[in-house]
Amino acid sequence: MDYDFLVIGAGSGGVRAARKAAETGARVAVIEASDLGGTCVNLGCVPKKLMMYAAQFGEYSDLASSSGWSEVEREHDWAAFLSKKNAEISRLNGIYQNLLNKAGVQIIQGFGRLVRPHVVQVGDQEYSAKRILIATGTTPNMPDIDGIEHCISSDELFHLQAMPKRIVVVGGGYIATEFAGILHGLGVKVCQVYRGHLFLRGFDAEIRQSLADQMRMRGIEIRFDMDIVAIEKRDQVLHLKTACGEEIETDAVLYATGRTPLTENLGLDNVGIDTDQKGYVIIDDCYQTSLLDHYAIGDLIGRVGLTPVAIREAMHLVRYLFGDGAKPKLDYAMIPSAVFSSPAIATVGMTTEQLDDQNIDYEVFSTSFKPMQYSFASVEKAERNVFRLIVERKSDRVLAAHLLGRDAPEIMQTLAVAIQAGAKKADFDAVIGIHPTGAEELVTLS
Ligand code: FAD
Ligand code: NDP
Repeated sequence: MDYDFLVIGAGSGGVRAARKAAETGARVAVIEASDLGGTCVNLGCVPKKLMMYAAQFGEYSDLASSSGWSEVEREHDWAAFLSKKNAEISRLNGIYQNLLNKAGVQIIQGFGRLVRPHVVQVGDQEYSAKRILIATGTTPNMPDIDGIEHCISSDELFHLQAMPKRIVVVGGGYIATEFAGILHGLGVKVCQVYRGHLFLRGFDAEIRQSLADQMRMRGIEIRFDMDIVAIEKRDQVLHLKTACGEEIETDAVLYATGRTPLTENLGLDNVGIDTDQKGYVIIDDCYQTSLLDHYAIGDLIGRVGLTPVAIREAMHLVRYLFGDGAKPKLDYAMIPSAVFSSPAIATVGMTTEQLDDQNIDYEVFSTSFKPMQYSFASVEKAERNVFRLIVERKSDRVLAAHLLGRDAPEIMQTLAVAIQAGAKKADFDAVIGIHPTGAEELVTLS
């Protein structure tokens, strides 16, 4: 065998697994078809958050006039942002390369394909390994409708040469809702279209409704219960036909309608690795696929598609395979997450709907308030924070927190520690607030 451990995909999960395995002295290589760092670094979390900051700076400068600053006319220069963003991503690609080099991981550039158990082909070269990890992630799902070729996914959005004047964003999940806010903040006229009654299915209902209200107040058009059935391009303008016969005109259409596991041409059938109906690789409790010594982690296994989850799965797997052999144990029910919408959502634990389904008796402590930085802002520009703590009645334990507000993700990261550690509502009440902050509201809820 050429290696002890061969990883296909140098994204969030693959890079961490390769590095950590190599640090134990194992002979490790990682195969990558594109840029090091995967979706998160190149086409996901990082460029998205940089765009979000760019959008927010514009909004701050708008707000500043409410505090006495003179008004200024500003326009966002997308080309200037793009070159800075690309340079930053290249810098991060370099950091990933150094980390892998330092750990002694061999980087194999190219598309990996399983040809036999324990053997991966890249170009005309074959590489064999005692253990193989597949961490190839997902790719945007573009529905099969007439005119879909005129639309873009988030992958293309990050490389647009110019920002459109108007855009329709289709979808009601993380990506659609984040980009509706970001693009609006960059000066694009945005219409978000979602097929259901209220977007962000699975998040707290009150928070979803408040977010929709606030987005509309800021000038983002949101159309719920709307299905796009066809798209036509006439004279550079896109015409979207809806299921109820309406027509929407726009300059660009972003589809953000979920992602599909990247298993095409990976050769899973060649070696007998099973996938489920949606194409996700089936694994056991130790991330082993249906083929002995072949493992899978990250977005490809369809559990929770977040970077820190892929990284944690990698750490658990490496410890299991190359460390003390402890069986992976990850609590998927208590993973905090954020939607970087405008304003942002952050959440940990179950929603009230899920608690109802499980017949758990709870009490909701909730508040909604205007954050202090918006004291002088006009009604349309002001945000409202919504903070909700869900407490189990019989034990007083805080089961979940659902927050809406610009700083919600930052607050949630530490709030999740307390909740995971089993903090009770009485513990929250015993903590002294830091005044004046928004977060102090969490320790004065009654
Ligand atoms: P990936 O990071 O997708 O890596 C897979 C790698 O495998 C890729 O580099 C790919 O090129 C490579 N590959 C695929 N097939 C082959 C092959 N056959 N041979 C060789 N290489 C191959 N998560 C968060 O936690 N926070 C966020 O804010 C966030 N924002 C996001 C925004 C967007 C627009 C998107 C799309 C995703 C976002 N995510 C976010 C999700 C996050 O990016 C993923 O959960 C994470 O990247 C998954 O890591 P992974 O290792 O499973 O796969
Ligand atoms: P999501 O699964 O979050 O949302 C997909 C959306 O598209 C849903 O609203 C869904 O509707 C809708 N949809 C699905 N198929 C169709 C269709 N054929 N026609 C119309 N609408 C459709 O996927 P995203 O693409 O937004 O994001 C992918 C994943 O990336 C996320 O699940 C998350 O794991 C990760 N991510 C994380 C981020 C973060 O941590 N901040 C940011 C961005 C991405 P319905 O609800 O009715 O099914």
